[in-house]
Amino acid sequence: MTTAQTHSQTQDHSHAHARAMGADAQLGQCPLMPTYGAPSVQFVRGQGSWLWDHEGKKYLDLLSGLAVTSLGHSHPAISQALCEQSQQLLHVSNLFGTEHAAPLAQTLDSLLGGGGQVFFANSGAEANEAAIKLARKVGGPGRHVVLSALGSFHGRTLATLHATGQPAKHLAFQPLPEGFRHVEFCNIAQLEASVDDTVAAVLLEAVQGEGGVNPVTIEYFQAVRKLCDERGILFIVDEVQTGLGRCGSWFAFQQMQVQPDVVTIAKALGNGVPIGACWAKADVAAAFQPGDHATTFGGQPLATAAARAVLKVMQQEDVPTRAQVAGAQFVQQLQALDQVVQVRGLGLLLAVELDSILLGEAPATHAAAQLLNQGVVVNAVTPTAIRLAPSLLISEEEIAEAVSAIGSVLADLQVVQSERATS
Ligand code: PLP
Repeated sequence: MTTAQTHSQTQDHSHAHARAMGADAQLGQCPLMPTYGAPSVQFVRGQGSWLWDHEGKKYLDLLSGLAVTSLGHSHPAISQALCEQSQQLLHVSNLFGTEHAAPLAQTLDSLLGGGGQVFFANSGAEANEAAIKLARKVGGPGRHVVLSALGSFHGRTLATLHATGQPAKHLAFQPLPEGFRHVEFCNIAQLEASVDDTVAAVLLEAVQGEGGVNPVTIEYFQAVRKLCDERGILFIVDEVQTGLGRCGSWFAFQQMQVQPDVVTIAKALGNGVPIGACWAKADVAAAFQPGDHATTFGGQPLATAAARAVLKVMQQEDVPTRAQVAGAQFVQQLQALDQVVQVRGLGLLLAVELDSILLGEAPATHAAAQLLNQGVVVNAVTPTAIRLAPSLLISEEEIAEAVSAIGSVLADLQVVQSERATS
């Protein structure tokens, strides 16, 4: 590609971005940095599993803002909590106490098995930053390395980017903070061989979400727990994408029958209101002293009021069971499609692996684009797999509608591919 072509593509991109952002009058001057691809749709409203764009077109949302709006859009109990809190108190410094932070921490602690304490942050990356700093504080001088898995995703800040086991994402941002090493996913022998006196913690996802929706094995997680106990290092589980019922249990690690030392949470906790949390067993959390870590916004009243309402609805609705049941319905119906070679994941965090022989190269990229045209939101988590992370309250009818739309888009793609092959 020539420089001129690259330049003109970048301009097209920024024009499309500007249009979708409603900035037609200033084409060429999109006010947003080009960190995302050009959005083809601008959403203006959401209700339950449904979204509407600025032209009034309706979409079935099977992505939930990437596992965020787990209770669907505009849930009345959360809207009410936000309205009431916004009229009462939006923010004070963390130097003072507020109404919701401690009770929210208590509920999270009980869902996590008890005996821990919580630090509130504003995002998944920040929750992981807190966990990494805590591991360093526990480990002490010289014992600061965090081992994580290839294919993992832990965030975009410099430290969490280095923890993220995707070397291609590191290239442009060297030098990254020292103290991160990667091992093969689910390879216990390699992990064991990598633990030396500099290692403070192992940081893993129970299902690699961004890495393609790959669950760990129970045996692996149990072996990691044993290794961490034997070597006196922390086991941190990143439940930012998998947590809060999404995978069919409150936390995905609970299906592996292990108890981590530290757990990080974000996405679904605010159902769209930014909030993250780092939970640690009390004896681990005790390593943090006043002044060791802080945030202006983390744990503030609006976010914690929303999160309390979220957890209350999640408990009332028993979302882990709903995710199990709805997930099983999705798997059964998707597996019946000719063009689907595998459905993997846990609960309602699923990847649908498509048949490249029937559908051609990068079938998921084409399928996701076609589904968007047809009013269904998914994403291509790999070039060959689409990811589904719908509302945990999705109905049977909506599941049937989703699978029917996916089936018809895949059938169309297959026709196009076979015509291409014969022409
Ligand atoms: N950890 C995991 C497992 C994630 O999936 C993500 C985001 O996708 C993050 C951390 C980063 O979260 P955030 O984007 O809120 O910083």
